[in-house]
Amino acid sequence: MISDLNKKCLLAFNIWDVNSAKAVIDAASKRNTNVILQTSSGIYQQMDVKETRSFIKGYAKRKKINAYLHLDHCKDLNVIENAILMEWDSVMIDASDLNIEENIRRTNQIIELAHHANILVEAEVGQIKGTEDNIKIQEHSIASRNEIKRFLMETNVDMIAVAFGNAHGMYKGKPILDYNLIHFVAEISKTPFVVHGGSGMADEEIHKLSQTDNVKKINISTEVKLAYRKGILNSLKEGLLEEEEFQASRVEQSIYDAIYQMAYHKLGIII
Ligand SMILES: [Zn+2]
Repeated sequence: MISDLNKKCLLAFNIWDVNSAKAVIDAASKRNTNVILQTSSGIYQQMDVKETRSFIKGYAKRKKINAYLHLDHCKDLNVIENAILMEWDSVMIDASDLNIEENIRRTNQIIELAHHANILVEAEVGQIKGTEDNIKIQEHSIASRNEIKRFLMETNVDMIAVAFGNAHGMYKGKPILDYNLIHFVAEISKTPFVVHGGSGMADEEIHKLSQTDNVKKINISTEVKLAYRKGILNSLKEGLLEEEEFQASRVEQSIYDAIYQMAYHKLGIII
């Protein structure tokens, strides 16, 4: 359960191991804010879920913040059920590729299970462009207002992601975001609005989004991966990858530093 979801906008960073999780938690702790750590469906299935949860919850507690665990874009009902069983704080059922009736039906199916366990559910209406977890969406299929309205009326979803000009991956140029669609969702319901594709958005845009209506969660995934890459490139530059005197821990530290700096900067935008 993400207890402060309704209070302020939270950033959600994709993580995949202890080092990336630690870097994000440390950055959030330094900013004195709670944070969401999310995993793609693929990473979720690779990781030791129980141990990862135990580490993240314990470490965040020691750092005096809440780190919420979220399962991002998942189409596999078995994986979602597992995350509910494993006490993830929230799960995303992504049936946005199906027709609206089926999307509603599957979302309600997950809501019934999740709410029983006090776990929140995020769903998506209209497909968000870009590549996420090896699923490539070429064209933007912006949801019609009627579909959004119907979805919100026929489900008791806790967070809604809507394609409104955002995309996964890095943007080529400045994205043209349809703020009117965010206003529309806020006019018809109090459901928190989730912004996917926060990577590569200008700081001013992220700040503006965080202050808009019911935007309560902004996802950053690609930039965590790029920070990881930067950490490796920095290690290379500093000669840390030379065979002689090679120390894995120094490379890990360099990756940690890059992710920490990125997360610390992003968290500063929404304060
Ligand atoms: Zn997404």
